Amino acid sequence: MEHAINSMQPVPGRHYGAFINGQWIKTDKSFDVQNPAKQERFAIMSNCGTAEAESALTATVAAFSSWKNTTAAQRATLLKAWHAAIMAHQEELALAISSEMGKPILEARGEVAYAAAYVELYAEEATRVYGETFPSQHAHKRLFANRQPVGPVYAVTPWNFPAAMVTRKVAPALAAGCTVIVKPAEQSPVTAVLLAALWEKVGGPAGTFQVLTTDDPAGVSKVMFDSRAVRKLTFTGSTAVGRMLYQQSAGTIKKVSLELGGHAPFIVFHDADIDRAVDEVMLCKFRNAGQTCVCTNRIYVQRSIAEAFAARLTDRVKALKVGDPADFDTQIGPLVDRAAVEKVQFHVLDAVSKGARVLVGGKAKSGLYFLPTVLTDVAAGMEIMQEETFGPVAPIVIFDNEDEVIALANDTPYGLAAYLYTSNLSRAFRVSEKLEYGIVGINDGAPSTAQGPFGGIKDSGLGREGGKWGLEEFLDVRFVSIGLD
Ligand code: NAD
Repeated sequence: MEHAINSMQPVPGRHYGAFINGQWIKTDKSFDVQNPAKQERFAIMSNCGTAEAESALTATVAAFSSWKNTTAAQRATLLKAWHAAIMAHQEELALAISSEMGKPILEARGEVAYAAAYVELYAEEATRVYGETFPSQHAHKRLFANRQPVGPVYAVTPWNFPAAMVTRKVAPALAAGCTVIVKPAEQSPVTAVLLAALWEKVGGPAGTFQVLTTDDPAGVSKVMFDSRAVRKLTFTGSTAVGRMLYQQSAGTIKKVSLELGGHAPFIVFHDADIDRAVDEVMLCKFRNAGQTCVCTNRIYVQRSIAEAFAARLTDRVKALKVGDPADFDTQIGPLVDRAAVEKVQFHVLDAVSKGARVLVGGKAKSGLYFLPTVLTDVAAGMEIMQEETFGPVAPIVIFDNEDEVIALANDTPYGLAAYLYTSNLSRAFRVSEKLEYGIVGINDGAPSTAQGPFGGIKDSGLGREGGKWGLEEFLDVRFVSIGLD
């Protein structure tokens, strides 16, 4: 049944269809998306099952046979138009993000611009997929390597960046000549649907970019994992689910990219600019109420400056405005759901029961809010030092020397992002080279950018998104050998 999106304005209570083969599909079953700030229904989604997944699969295969043969210039033109459309609807997309997962509206606008930056970048990168020639040991042979789109892609995205996690996958896939099926998180699928509506609006061919909305991720995904036609899984989400999908990809030997959880250390040496470190920990820790994979989960401060750092951070945290994410001056919105609030509360209670002190915050507020919190006297062995908190809690740990803090920072299965603050150039190089992380911010608490290779090592994942590296994830290298007469 046709269920077109005629307006980008996210009106509460609206029904959104799934986008399959260029059609808006309304299923018999539906599921609700909650607005976490109001704790009421924001949207009703079509609920795809195996039948819709199979339709999308058929369409992605059909679309791939023609999309892979378009020129890079044609794909770049469409991606540029999509970028312009996203920016033209920045406000409505920001409102959708904010309403479906609680991000403060100004941050949500920022996310839309960040999401669009990937589309603009990959419009350009599409035209830079180069091949190579290389010498043969035989005089009569000529050798080449070129790059081919890997094939239809299955993309599974998390709730915390409902726009950026979609474009960071879809834009490079389309640029490479792949088709892509997105399965957005059930908590925040509206933004993905609106992004697909804009792709349709600018003339994106049917079946090139499809969205399967569902509250049964395992059922829909099984169709994709069982299919040999789907050649690539690109996943962003928790390490537990990523590990499971990695195993499920093995049966058909799919190419796999995994952007998983993190547990970022933020190290402040005695010679750092303390005000700058405090400014940036505010951004790094409290953006999106701490629900970010690269946000710091452990702040290590050298003993001689620890007291001053904690006092300044506490003052800044006290001044944070907690409120309705729709208000322009709100800095901390609600957490995504009740389970998230309970997890954050558990981390704080556990830390306090093992000797940590609360300098500010430390408890939940009404609704799904958790007060921004600073803890001190935090130590190894507390839950918060091991598991992602995904909430607005800044735990301070005091350290004495460089070797000690490097060992502490690396003592985790995660390896996504790490930060260090120092004014000593030699220390900056020395420490950054020893940190076992995919991303290191040196005097930089917000290194993420569309141009850079974003991704982790160890339990934080495989592959990179962004820049030329993000495109390579959707390309296979083909070796061509020509024997001359
Ligand atoms: P999640 O792992 O619970 O869910 C992610 C996606 O997987 C969702 O779309 C969900 O529907 C799907 N999923 C869940 N079970 C599935 C199954 N059995 N089969 C197929 N799909 C399934 O993660 P989340 O709560 O949405 O997101 C938060 C997590 O994502 C955090 O761990 C965070 O660190 C991580 N994250 C990582 C990055 C990164 O770039 N490394 C970025 C954002 C978020």
